[in-house]
Amino acid sequence: MSRIVEIVHAIEGYDPDALHVDKARAAIRACLAPVRDVERVPVRAALGRVLAEDIVPAIDVPGHDNTAMDGYAVRFADLGADVTVLEEIGAALAGRAFAGTVGAGQCVRVTTGAVMPAGADTVVVQEVVKVHGSKISIPAGQKAKQNVRYAGEDLKKGVPVLGPGRLLRPAELGLIASLGIGEVAVRRRVRVAFFSTGDELASVGSALKEGEVYDSNRYTLHGMLERLGVEIRDLGVVRDDPAKLEAAFRDAASNADAIITTGGVSVGEADFVKPMMAQLGEALFWRIAMRPGRPMAFGRIGEAFLFGLPGNPVAVMVTFYQFVREALLQLGGCAGDCAPLALEATAGEALRKVPGRTEYQRGVLFRDGGELKVRVTGQQGSGVLRSMSEANCFIVLEHERGRVAAGETVQVQPFEGLA
Ligand code: AMP
Ligand code: MG
Repeated sequence: MSRIVEIVHAIEGYDPDALHVDKARAAIRACLAPVRDVERVPVRAALGRVLAEDIVPAIDVPGHDNTAMDGYAVRFADLGADVTVLEEIGAALAGRAFAGTVGAGQCVRVTTGAVMPAGADTVVVQEVVKVHGSKISIPAGQKAKQNVRYAGEDLKKGVPVLGPGRLLRPAELGLIASLGIGEVAVRRRVRVAFFSTGDELASVGSALKEGEVYDSNRYTLHGMLERLGVEIRDLGVVRDDPAKLEAAFRDAASNADAIITTGGVSVGEADFVKPMMAQLGEALFWRIAMRPGRPMAFGRIGEAFLFGLPGNPVAVMVTFYQFVREALLQLGGCAGDCAPLALEATAGEALRKVPGRTEYQRGVLFRDGGELKVRVTGQQGSGVLRSMSEANCFIVLEHERGRVAAGETVQVQPFEGLA
């Protein structure tokens, strides 16, 4: 494996002391290699996993031409410019085909999903016809071949439909099941170990001593990692003590694809976190041109990639969502663009911003008339976790941008999609 330092230093415009967020993202992307192991799992258990094989249909879906509506299957050539009366000769129900053939002047009653009766080419919806015994009156204005679904229209036999690298969502599970496939090959889950560093941290359940704060980062991290579907190892709070840090890093590296730490990577830190990262592996210490979240370490210890996040609770979440999430998806073998979805919205109020760094303000997206607008969630300090809790999106203000006036267009990244 190449050294991370060499790969990253070759990136054009790389400046660790004023790193553009795009360069940080590119640097991480350039270094990562996906996990290789593959396992077979039942389709239901494949939700959120990354496919490791081609899915090639052995059948057409649907398997037969069939009806898309309840109504009557007719021969379009029989229909006139005015009302046409046809003779109903039988029925085709979903799962029960009509055995005969539709001849001139005849029709067959059908329900949605029934195999298209032989001889018929068009379905007239039930709502527009008049029924007098077996005589069916069809109004003018029908279109040839309407309301018919054709064999193989969804999936075609022999034509690959999903490939390696595909993240499996509910739609893909259904699609695989529609082919009658019960098991798929997926990459193994990415293993992530994490711990918090800092002498001021108390774990939930212990009494706070003077100057201590409860460790909240492991809780937000746990939540974010769980949603990503990775395997999680929580190594707790590790004191700023060289022996304890070394043990924690070695333990994490022995068993994980990625190690995430929080705290101890800022410039002024007089502690042992940074020296220990550098001593045990390779570590790059960045000052990223962003807010919040400026200090961050990236590197490798043994086989595990290292993400040393800042300690401030909001900075942890921002750096996780902007860098780590994508990296873990990539490590898991996810192909394609894994970056957070960005939309445009109108600034509902003026936003403070200075050029020269990318800002991730915490915003609330709301509808105002027909327009999608966004406002900030009050205090934006990187320690104010409430600003994340009250938000439903990041407002992403680009590197070069200055103050934003109300009414200008801004980029937003919604926190929730359709899960
Ligand atoms: P650091 O990056 O270590 O300088 O920490 C920056 C700020 O984040 C300090 O105010 C820390 O007390 C706070 N902090 C660090 N780690 C945590 C944590 N796990 N939970 C809550 N706050 C933390
Ligand atoms: Mg600290």
